[in-house]
Amino acid sequence: MSRIGRRDKDNKENCEHFAGIDETEVSPRTPECEECEKEGTDWVALRMCLLCGHVGCCDSSEGLHATRHFKQTGHPVMIALPNKSWKWCYVHRQYY
Ligand SMILES: [Zn+2]
Ligand SMILES: [Zn+2]
Ligand SMILES: [Zn+2]
Repeated sequence: MSRIGRRDKDNKENCEHFAGIDETEVSPRTPECEECEKEGTDWVALRMCLLCGHVGCCDSSEGLHATRHFKQTGHPVMIALPNKSWKWCYVHRQYY
């Protein structure tokens, strides 16, 4: 497949992984990164899983717990905490 949809970059519509998800109805399970809290590690920024409310740290953090959560559970979509200014799909590797 050589068709790379450059125009998709400007498409602000959510991918299918956000179907049926209402981000206003998902609440964080923990106030901070769940794993960092247990392990006592520091995090840089937080991400919340939009399927189960798991809170994990970003890829700039040591633990990479948000990404690890995706690898462990297959939950593909998350949102930035605390301002919820953007969402991310791990499958499409794209911001929304
Ligand atoms: Zn997606
Ligand atoms: Zn963490
Ligand atoms: Zn999850």
